Amino acid sequence: MKIKHRTKPLPLQKYDAIIPRLSPNFPKLPEMKEDAGKQGRGHSGELKVDYHLETLASQYTILDNVYLKNNGKNFQMDTHVIANHGIFIVESKNYFGTIIFDTILGQLIRDDGQVEAGFEYPITQVENQQFHLQNWLKRNHLSHVPVYYFVAIAEPATIIKVDGNRETIAENVAHAARIPKMILEKDRQLAQLGYPNLQDYKIGKTILRACGEFDIDIMQKYGITRRDLLPGVFCPNCGVRGMKRLHGAWVCRKCRFKSYRAHLKDLFDYLLLNGSISNKECMWLLGLPSRSTATRILQNSGLVYLQKYKCWVNKRRGPLER
Ligand SMILES: [Zn+2]
Repeated sequence: MKIKHRTKPLPLQKYDAIIPRLSPNFPKLPEMKEDAGKQGRGHSGELKVDYHLETLASQYTILDNVYLKNNGKNFQMDTHVIANHGIFIVESKNYFGTIIFDTILGQLIRDDGQVEAGFEYPITQVENQQFHLQNWLKRNHLSHVPVYYFVAIAEPATIIKVDGNRETIAENVAHAARIPKMILEKDRQLAQLGYPNLQDYKIGKTILRACGEFDIDIMQKYGITRRDLLPGVFCPNCGVRGMKRLHGAWVCRKCRFKSYRAHLKDLFDYLLLNGSISNKECMWLLGLPSRSTATRILQNSGLVYLQKYKCWVNKRRGPLER
C-alpha cells in the first residue's frame, strides 16, 4: 500500500508562484527559471518512476518523498519501498541522451549529443542516503532492518553506459520499468538467505510520522524583497495580470473572462511565499479599494486571523513561517 503520495515539491510550487510576479528585468530571473526547470524535470522523472513502482503497492509499503532528520542533518529520498525483508531506496534520475557511469573515478557524464556535462555521482548520493537511513533506523529501534538502493533512470530512451565495473552498476542501476522486478528478485533472495519477515506497514508508519517536508526560503535565496513582487490578480483564462473587480467578480481586461474565485490562487501563492498576509498587503495584492472588501475576501477564503500579529494565515500551514 502506498501510505505517502508524491505532491509537487514546495520549492517548485514557490517558483511557479513567484516567477510570474517578477519584472522581466529582474536580474536573477534567468537563473531562477533555469533552477525551476531543473527541479521540474526532476519531479516529472519521479512521477515516471512512480508509475512503474505502483505495481509493488499491492504487496509492499511505499512512501514517496521521504524527508528525515538524522543527527541534526536532513536527508531526502525519492521513494522507499518497504518489502518483506528490507527497505529499498529508489532514487529517480531524469537524464536525456547517453549517461556514462565512471566507476573508477566515481563520476557521471551525460552526453546529449552536443555537450558533455558532469553530474553528481548517483551511487555516492544513494550510498549517503543508505548510511543516513541506517543510522536513523538504529536510533528508532529498527536496526534489524537492512537497507538497499536502486537508481531508476526515468527516461526509457536514455542510454546507460559504464566505464569500469559493469556488474556493480548493473546491480543497482536500471531503467525504471525494470526496477520492480529487481526489488522482487532481491527480496526473494533475502528470504532464501533466511532474513526475517518485516512488519513493513508498521515500519512505514514509523517513518511516515517522522517525515518532514523539504522547503527553501526562495525570497531569501534570490534576494527578493516584497517590493520586487508585482501586484494583481492573474486571469485563469489568458494569464494576463490585473483583473478588475466588478460587482464581486473578477473580469479580465484582455479577454473579458469573468470569475468569482480567480483571486484565491494569488492569495494562496502569496501565503506560500510570505507565510502570512495583512489586510493592507491584501489590498495591494488584489488591487482592492477598501479595507472592508479585503477583510471580507480574507474571511471568505478560509484564512485565520491572528490578533497578536494582525495578519491572516492559512490554517493548513503553521502560523508565521516566515
Ligand atoms: Zn484573460
